[in-house]
Amino acid sequence: MSDERVRAAVAAAAEAAGAGGRATVRMDGARAGIVLDATGLTPAGRDAAERAVRAAALAAGAAEARVAVTAERVRRRLVAVASGKGGVGKSTLSANLAVALRRLSLRVGLVDADVYGPSQPRLMAAEGAKPQARDKVLMPVDTPHGVPMLSMGQLVAPGRALAWRGPMAAGALGQLLDAEWGAADTLVIDLPPGTGDVQLTMVQKYRPAGAVIVSTPQDLALIDARRAADLFATAGVPVIGLVENMSGYLCPHCGEASDPFGRGGAEAEAAAMGVPFLGRVPLDARIRAASDAGRPPAGEEDDRVFAPIAAQVADWLADR
Ligand code: ADP
Repeated sequence: MSDERVRAAVAAAAEAAGAGGRATVRMDGARAGIVLDATGLTPAGRDAAERAVRAAALAAGAAEARVAVTAERVRRRLVAVASGKGGVGKSTLSANLAVALRRLSLRVGLVDADVYGPSQPRLMAAEGAKPQARDKVLMPVDTPHGVPMLSMGQLVAPGRALAWRGPMAAGALGQLLDAEWGAADTLVIDLPPGTGDVQLTMVQKYRPAGAVIVSTPQDLALIDARRAADLFATAGVPVIGLVENMSGYLCPHCGEASDPFGRGGAEAEAAAMGVPFLGRVPLDARIRAASDAGRPPAGEEDDRVFAPIAAQVADWLADR
């Protein structure tokens, strides 16, 4: 056995496991002491890297191999997606924003904090997936869209979350946000509608980098949207911008666009609130069908709706 051989084998194993250049080996006789920097790896990746470098050291002739795994704490930015009331498409936008940000190469995770109607497991095609816990820390579930996810709906039996009192829901939010997010450094958070305990805990304790407000074009929803925006502004959390959902109707039969709820309301409201207008999402039966099927349209090659919204959010985050 030569020390060099062990070092080379460990370096190659670390490289192959995605922790290239980040394993140092100290030899003490035939014993190898290895320090592995697993920053950015998922928990499973970290375990695999640890096993791989140990096996490599032993195969290269070390009589014993000890591996100490270190990882820098990833600083995470939280992007809250909020609306004044339910049913305006906040969950739909959250899922698509997360997928579109992922397509822009951000390392994104998705938190479904909508205790009243946790729908992300369905939207992200991860229904039935139960998150595991390690040392009482939850591990997000993988989704087919490259975005790990955790949902309030995974913590309780279906239909039970509604019965939670505010403080319980706020506590559950902590479990979701403090989960083992691995390399994900940007978390999109689908908040419940309105301005209750979960939202207050969010702004006061977890201080999102910014908030995206979703509204439909109707005046009533806009008044609610203003209330939601005020909650963040009052707490000193910047509003990244407003998205108008169900803006204009695309007729599936004739392809004609019409405006059942009026046009331009959200844009004017954004201007009045002094927040950027991030864009419109049409009321389109294909969006609903794809969402119900767990295929966020933002994942499609030809998406022209969510990509520009995500690009503005990404630019905003990059400027922070
Ligand atoms: P919220 O989270 O605000 O309660 P959801 O995202 O669950 O709202 O949307 C409510 C319903 O409206 C869902 O059935 C969803 O598929 C549908 N929906 C949302 N946005 C659109 C859209 N732009 N076009 C068509 N249907 C939509």
